[in-house]
Amino acid sequence: ALRLSTITKSFGDNAILKGISLEAEAGEFIALVGPSGCGKSTLLRIVAGLEHPTSGSVMAAGRELTALAPADRNVAMVFQSYALYPHLTAGQNIAVPLAMRELTRAQRLPIIGNLLPGQKQIRTAIQAQVAEMARSLKIEHLLDRKPGQMSGGQRQRVALARAMVRRPSLFLMDEPLSNLDANLRVHARGEIVDLHRRAGVPTLYVTHDQAEALSMADRVAVMISGNLLQLAPPQVIYDDPAHIEVARFLGQPR
Ligand code: ATP
Ligand code: MG
Repeated sequence: ALRLSTITKSFGDNAILKGISLEAEAGEFIALVGPSGCGKSTLLRIVAGLEHPTSGSVMAAGRELTALAPADRNVAMVFQSYALYPHLTAGQNIAVPLAMRELTRAQRLPIIGNLLPGQKQIRTAIQAQVAEMARSLKIEHLLDRKPGQMSGGQRQRVALARAMVRRPSLFLMDEPLSNLDANLRVHARGEIVDLHRRAGVPTLYVTHDQAEALSMADRVAVMISGNLLQLAPPQVIYDDPAHIEVARFLGQPR
């Protein structure tokens, strides 16, 4: 489970997050929506460890995350841009988090340029896990391609595979589908929910697309100007918005 307790974040004099509290159960999919600039990405980055909160705590799987380095949090984050390593093949991209976990700090240094030199046993075990992940996401045929040789949809699946492969205790996704065309986007919704179900961990999913939030999420969190104004199942949010700002945001044509 995931528990955020009164997270605040200021950049200089600007209060961006004003006390966000939220609990997600193990298998729960929460869609985080709100106007541009309300602080969604900042909140995800704090949970991932890419940003420090000004105050507040993040508990996941019984551990206080804010004290841990990003690499020790066992949290997977998928970005809008996918952020794949452009010089590595898809297979190598998926292998990176596994290699990072298996290798000692000294061994890690050379792997980004030259993935897994030597270390035969580790290499074989990692390749088996990459192959299994590739099978489950149906990207076996892409493993030898570099990001520049793949479509947006293909890159998105590789990014998902890379995020899932080390079995994180939490998924964070920041508009992972917004670069896809409309057809692919609808198709990918189901896939992401499937992956989430199989992993059985909480997922925080930021989206601009209300249809995505409606169709994918167990609960929708509506954030306005750094406050979480409502957290409820999609039906409840839409039928019975708790604040005028929530109603205004949901009612906006887009
Ligand atoms: P969008 O929907 O457009 O992605 P968002 O809800 O994800 O928006 P954030 O990226 O979290 O919004 O940004 C929230 C606010 O914090 C914005 O006003 C932004 O300019 C500000 N902000 C974010 N990161 C920084 C930073 N490193 N330094 C200063 N201000 C920042
Ligand atoms: Mg954002």
